[in-house]
Amino acid sequence: MIVSVKNNTSQTDIDKLINKLESFDFKVSQQSHLNNIILIVIGDMTKIDDNAILAFRFVASVSRISAPYKRVNRQLFPDDVIVKVNDLEIGSGRPIAIIAGPCSVEGSDQLNIIAKGVRKSGAKLLRGGAFKPRTSPYSFQGLGKQGIDILKKANQDYKMPIVSEISSASDLELFEENVDVLQVGARNMQNFDLLKALGKSSKPILLKRGFSNTIEEWLMSAEYIVSAGNPNVILCERGIRTFEPYTRNTLDLSVITIIKQRSNLPIIIDPSHATGDWRLVESMSMAAIVAGADGLMIEVHNNPEVALSDGAQSLTLENFDKLMTKAKKIAAAVERAI
Ligand code: PEP
Ligand code: MN
Repeated sequence: MIVSVKNNTSQTDIDKLINKLESFDFKVSQQSHLNNIILIVIGDMTKIDDNAILAFRFVASVSRISAPYKRVNRQLFPDDVIVKVNDLEIGSGRPIAIIAGPCSVEGSDQLNIIAKGVRKSGAKLLRGGAFKPRTSPYSFQGLGKQGIDILKKANQDYKMPIVSEISSASDLELFEENVDVLQVGARNMQNFDLLKALGKSSKPILLKRGFSNTIEEWLMSAEYIVSAGNPNVILCERGIRTFEPYTRNTLDLSVITIIKQRSNLPIIIDPSHATGDWRLVESMSMAAIVAGADGLMIEVHNNPEVALSDGAQSLTLENFDKLMTKAKKIAAAVERAI
């Protein structure tokens, strides 16, 4: 709910209203917007009637926000959220953040070759899965803690922040110590206990969209993290399930504009999982840049043919380099930088 207060209202009067609203367990934040004072009220709105607020003579208007997400709602909090990862800033107007690396960490030689290569081509963050929630129990499940150790070493050697997926709240301490951006995978987008735990984390969260989830459900998952205390959420579209079997998923590029309109959070695109086919990754990356994505997350492998997971969608280092050359030109054409 947004409560607008008439000009020249004293702070003492405003505080009386805030106290009343807080007595209903609402969270109230006072903001100045275009010289007007507004109160953003969050909580269970069935507890109060608009007239109880309008009874305060200095209240100009009361408007209810119908969307169930509040903290990540641009209507309530219009300023773009800029997520800081060490010295990097991700979000509106900032350079397009390129995250690249293997689907899974397979060993230190593999990760070193890839880290060195993607960094040289201009990637700013290194990705790699250590705990892999796979659809099949017979597929490679990741190296676990050993994988995290390998990522940490690469972080020290190549000075690239690390992005890796956390699938259980019980691993939070390990990730807090070693990983720079904690990824929530598509399969865990509605693991609410995990989301609540990540709300207490000091690290930015990269929240993937579940493959069968609506935009509203996705934003509600972000709301879990932000409302629990962690404002640093980056959304990641990775394709949704449709009737079309030609691609692994269907890349929903329109979400970039929709998210920018409805939410204040940065959004990046993962063309690798969205298509499942390395041949489609470059063109979808270019499209995402033009559509206004704040970043890309791309799977790269030094030898995709023998990758332990997602080889078919992984770019070789050579093809990643070509993609980056093109991406820089496309970004410049739309007045962005990489
Ligand atoms: C991944 O990025 O490694 C991954 C498993 O992606 P998703 O959760 O989108 O399937
Ligand atoms: Mn993968």
